[in-house]
Parts: sequence; structure tokens; C-alpha cells
Amino acid sequence: MIIKPSPNFDHRPAGAEIKYLILHYTGMATGEEALARLCDAHSKVSAHYLIEEDGRVFSLVHEDMRAWHAGVSSWEGDCDINGLSIGIEMVNPGHDSPGYKGDYRPFPSQQMVALAGITQSILRRHDIRPWHILGHSDVAPDRKCDPGELFDWKWLASEGIGIWPEKIETKPVDAKSFQQKLKKYGYKIEITGKLDQQTRVVIRAFQRHFRPADVSGIFDQECQSILEALLNIKKDH
Ligand SMILES: [Zn+2]
Repeated sequence: MIIKPSPNFDHRPAGAEIKYLILHYTGMATGEEALARLCDAHSKVSAHYLIEEDGRVFSLVHEDMRAWHAGVSSWEGDCDINGLSIGIEMVNPGHDSPGYKGDYRPFPSQQMVALAGITQSILRRHDIRPWHILGHSDVAPDRKCDPGELFDWKWLASEGIGIWPEKIETKPVDAKSFQQKLKKYGYKIEITGKLDQQTRVVIRAFQRHFRPADVSGIFDQECQSILEALLNIKKDH
């Protein structure tokens, strides 16, 4: 672990418990650039940890403090996700975005192994439930798509981190009922009964995490089976 203090943090709200782990990618050409930005007082962004593609782990902000990684975000109705979470940045150039040519690529195994190691120690220190280990895109689906569909959530779950469900058989549901199920799982979504823009955005975030082979934003039978299985896992705990 390399200590690289960032000035971009403040106190967590009084009595706040650390209940979420939020995973990101840096979305910049190199890890050095990302580190420089996360440690620049003018940028007003940070994370607790950054993990290089070669597996080196940098500690930027003490876990007791609130790092500034999630921005405007929401899960299960919680809005101060920074105040309630630990944030980890995975070095990866990320997707293209307006004015930025990305180079989104798989996360190397040494980087994933390092992530599993640091996460297992975080989970020993804090009571973070498996379904509270989320991507930035889960908590801010309208703004963010990191860590994205190349991030191997399934492998992470095999290491005991987060959840990856077995599909179960389901009957087709209507738009209103799958909106309700997505909301029940934790996503911020309006129940409109229509397959509208905000619903497609949330479905795409859901797919990036749980059905990465197809991130079309269309809620199909497979998505429904996965969502049902996730709700069952949550219910059983
Ligand atoms: Zn992010």
C-alpha cells in the first residue's frame, strides 16, 4: 500500500455508518494523471483508494473521512452516498465521452486480485452487506457508466465480494412491475408504468452490473430472472 494523501475530503456526517462500497474507473489516459487529479485541491474529487492496472494500491483518504467520489447519487433512498461509503478507483481509461477518446479495456487480473485483497480487509472493518457493493453507475445511472460492463463482478462474487445470482424462472412482467422491482432493489427510478428514458437509463446501469453481455437498455426475460434472483438473495438475509 502506497500512501498518497489527497486534500479532497471532509468529515462524515455525525453518526454515519459506512454501509456502501462504491467501485469506479478513473476514466483518464493513465493512472498517474488520475492520481494527480484526485490529489489536486482544485479538482474537488477523490477516493479512498486507487488501484493501478499492475496491482499497486494507493491510499488517498482515511476511511474515517468522507472522500468525494460519488457526486449526486442515490441507493435505497440514501442520497449522501459519499458520507456512507468507501470509494475505490480502478485505473482504466474508460468509455468514450463527449470530448474524450476513451480506451475502455478489461481490468487485468493483478488489478482485480489487488481489489479483492483490499476489499476483503475493508469488509472485516465495516458492516457492508453484499448487495451494498455497487458500481458508480448503479448509484448515478443517468450520469455515469463506471466501472462498466467489462468489470468482472462475477469473479468478484466468487471471491466472496458482492453478489452474482443464479437465474430463476419467471413470468413476463409489465413496465410498472419491473420499475417497482428495480426500485425495491435500490435503484432510484420513477414508477411511471412506461418504458421511458429514465427507465432505459436505469436498466442499462442494471445490465452493466448484472448482465454485461448485453447493455441494450431493454428489459428482457433474462434481466427479469436476474432481478428476481437478486431480490430473493436480499430477502433471505
Ligand atoms: Zn466513478
